[in-house]
Amino acid sequence: MEVKVKFSSNALEFENDYMDIVRAFDPYLKEDEDGELLSLTLTKIDELNYICKIGCAGKNFEKTVSIDKRFLEKEESEFYAVKYKAQVKRLSKVALYEFLTQITGINLPYGSLTGIRPTKLYREVAYKGIDAHDYFVNTLKVSVEKTDLIKSIVENQGSFCNVTSDEIDVFVNIPICVTRCVYCSFISAQLDKVKKLIAPYCDLLVKELECTAKITKDRGLKVRSVYIGGGTPTSLDDINFERVIKMASVFDCAEFTVEAGRPDTITRSKLDIMKKYGVTRISVNPQTFNQKTLDLIGRSHSVEDVYDVYKIAREYGFDINMDLIAMLPEESVEDFKNSVDRAIELDPENITVHTLALKKGSALKVDGYQSGARENAEAMVDYAFESLKKAGYSPYYMYKQKYMSGNLENVGYCKTGKQCVYNIDIMEEISGIIANGAGGISKRIFGNGRLERLADPKGIEVYIQREDKILNDKIRFFEQCSDDSQ
Ligand code: SF4
Repeated sequence: MEVKVKFSSNALEFENDYMDIVRAFDPYLKEDEDGELLSLTLTKIDELNYICKIGCAGKNFEKTVSIDKRFLEKEESEFYAVKYKAQVKRLSKVALYEFLTQITGINLPYGSLTGIRPTKLYREVAYKGIDAHDYFVNTLKVSVEKTDLIKSIVENQGSFCNVTSDEIDVFVNIPICVTRCVYCSFISAQLDKVKKLIAPYCDLLVKELECTAKITKDRGLKVRSVYIGGGTPTSLDDINFERVIKMASVFDCAEFTVEAGRPDTITRSKLDIMKKYGVTRISVNPQTFNQKTLDLIGRSHSVEDVYDVYKIAREYGFDINMDLIAMLPEESVEDFKNSVDRAIELDPENITVHTLALKKGSALKVDGYQSGARENAEAMVDYAFESLKKAGYSPYYMYKQKYMSGNLENVGYCKTGKQCVYNIDIMEEISGIIANGAGGISKRIFGNGRLERLADPKGIEVYIQREDKILNDKIRFFEQCSDDSQ
């Protein structure tokens, strides 16, 4: 059944979150200004109870939403209001999910859960001494299978999550790619349009990294990992690439990743540079092993390029990650299964399985592309899970995005002991980040879980123009650190 809805609620501050639930039911429910009115009203009865009334297309639903005191801070705490609001939001989302399940007859794998970090929430619930598995299944309505997956990821992260308050990650952003993939919504610029800006961009990036190195030294911070991402860092010419890699190599840490990504940008000279400066891990991302799809999605490389580059990269001894995407346009379940099988045959240390997300700003979204059948998306990620498990890979990090096909997830799998520290840190938000480069977001994490962020300007051009501000803001941001933060 397809229902077109416009949404209205008296809980305006939660409307975006409610809409995430509505969108998760796509294609059964569609956002439409002329559609049926889907209304949700929350009425407070007393401090711990609300009545949630929901109606749409002549169907009505009513539920008492009771705040779970175990998630609240002491009333005198400055965080009481934050935690209280989070409870009202979470539980009214459950009520909305239950109503939508009733009118569509559909249960979603992640139930009422729409946040980016399911494993972080699972960890928080368990930390409270609550049975997190039971809470996810019976309160949040997450399926048993997905709750098992979340639980196993948390277990596979194990001691990687033991982080002290003086540990931090360093991120470097190169928001440049050779061509633009049709599903991309990042700020990444196309190489041929920003060629003249590359040298000045790298000049400032090197200065920002020098500033980062000084901050870590002055504050005695230990760097857990360095991650150069984007974009496609290997899109840079060798001279500028080497300048950035060299500067990023000054941090003393065991994990140094370059998200090389596009096979057509990975050359022997780039691999030599990475080896010379101690890179330990790179990505060679096929996305699919189907040439027709690669042409369709705007990648400028072939399946053969993936094989050729992988073979050469192996000679250098890097740990290798390969990204795959489920539900790419015009791909069948069989096409995707073939890609999973071929990636496994290559035997990289990490394989990350994404599910296509139709994000605002992507060419697919602009062209009005509709996601394929939810059942296909589920069949694909289930196949990946089973096949990777059989091949000795374990899931170790996960995140969800808005507008994902089937409201599914992205999962990183690894061989034993090959977890990528940076991926765990960024998804679980367990250590601070010093980000460098346009669009980079630095984070400080306080002992009570509170986060503070500092964003570098997004576009390359603006970034280059704001040198003094960027460096001064960064120094000030990390100077303010108190003893319980990093
Ligand atoms: S490689 Fe990544 S960042 Fe670059 S265009 Fe494709 S999706 Fe966007």
